[in-house]
Amino acid sequence: MTDFDVVICGAGPAGCTAALALGSSGLRIALIDKESFPREKVCGDALPAYVPKVLATIDPSIEAAFKNLPGKNPVSLCRYIAPDRTAFDISFGEKGLVCRRNVFDSFLLNLASGFDNITVFKGSPVKEIIRHDYGFEVAGAGSFRLTSKLLIGCDGSNGISKKLSVTAAGDPSEGSVAVRAYFRGIKDNPQGTLEFHFLKELLPGYFWIFPLPGNEFNAGIGMPSHLVISRKINLRDTMMKIIETDRAIGPRFSGATMTGNIRGAYLPLFTGKRKISGERFMLCGDAASLVNPATGAGIGQAMQSGRYAGWHALECFRRNDFSERFMNMYDKTIYEKLWKENKKYLFILRHILRHEKRLNLTLDMAAHSPAVSRFISKILILSLALISLPASI
Ligand SMILES: Cc1cc2nc3c(=O)[nH]c(=O)nc-3n(C[C@H](O)[C@H](O)[C@H](O)COP(=O)(O)OP(=O)(O)OC[C@H]3O[C@@H](n4cnc5c(N)ncnc54)[C@H](O)[C@@H]3O)c2cc1C
Repeated sequence: MTDFDVVICGAGPAGCTAALALGSSGLRIALIDKESFPREKVCGDALPAYVPKVLATIDPSIEAAFKNLPGKNPVSLCRYIAPDRTAFDISFGEKGLVCRRNVFDSFLLNLASGFDNITVFKGSPVKEIIRHDYGFEVAGAGSFRLTSKLLIGCDGSNGISKKLSVTAAGDPSEGSVAVRAYFRGIKDNPQGTLEFHFLKELLPGYFWIFPLPGNEFNAGIGMPSHLVISRKINLRDTMMKIIETDRAIGPRFSGATMTGNIRGAYLPLFTGKRKISGERFMLCGDAASLVNPATGAGIGQAMQSGRYAGWHALECFRRNDFSERFMNMYDKTIYEKLWKENKKYLFILRHILRHEKRLNLTLDMAAHSPAVSRFISKILILSLALISLPASI
């Protein structure tokens, strides 16, 4: 079969969630990824606490399957370390999870593969997307060619579907770059704690240590790409220098072993409203530049946008309306659900994280005064928490 109702380009969290939202719909869905799974995805591996809720809104049995997935480490505390090294902890009721992306993404893809109406094409890079009156022709290597009435672009920050919209990619100078590596045996990570070290030389970025199951850790650094370019920073070298020489971090890595290489990737930040749909297409996740500008988290937004795209696709077929005007309802939903929350993070990025003194002051006050701590936790720090709940799921 080569004619589909919907082609989903990219099978990361956005693409798989879109596919799951279209499972059992009766529509013929193609889910295409250039990689063979399980595949690595450069990431901090921290899943927001609301992942199960997003899955439950699609089907409670998917949430139940996720609860049984092995390889997840629950986290319930964020530790923020100011440039002056004051530490401020905030605990949250809902548990976030740290889970390697090869495990999590394969889990989602396996679920999507279980639907009769979803055909999965792995190891199939999409090379060209050609627009026709009826929809799209999606071409890969050799004779790989599919057609679809509707296209959902979920192929990440380096994919090709974002080219369908002139503004979706945003300004590359407004993105971030980050590197990460896996380690075994980092010392003194309090159980269930995500650590954010706001080191002076990385601001508004940070060094993170996220605990995986079994004394393994995901550690890395991220910074705005324009600073990396203008200061000619080599992120891998910077990360190693911090690990070897930083007075607080260094001793914690002595005796730890790096398993695998340091790998990096670009993060397309959600710094403004952009057009992320058009006639017969929608973009989700990193392809729509939805990454949190302060924390660098994007898995939750990818899943939420994928789910909304899937649901909107159902409406398109129900009404037989694929017009640009009707697709724009998808943009409206995304901005209504995600933009308000995102604006808080943009504020934090622009007015606190970029200013060393303000960040020191904010975290020092929070650490030393219970009243201020409560206030700041509520107003600001909770917003900073990688796994805080967005206002609406
Ligand atoms: C170093 C780093 C750390 C991060 N840490 C976190 C974190 O801890 N928590 C968090 O929430 N977010 C984090 N993020 C962001 C997060 O990784 C992304 O926001 C998230 O993966 C976006 O999901 P997605 O489905 O949109 O895209 P992706 O996960 O990138 O998936 C896109 C898929 O499309 C496929 N693809 C690409 N091109 C093609 C093509 N031409 N044809 C077919 N398939 C294609 C890819 O193989 C991939 O499987 C981090 C990012 C980086 C770089």
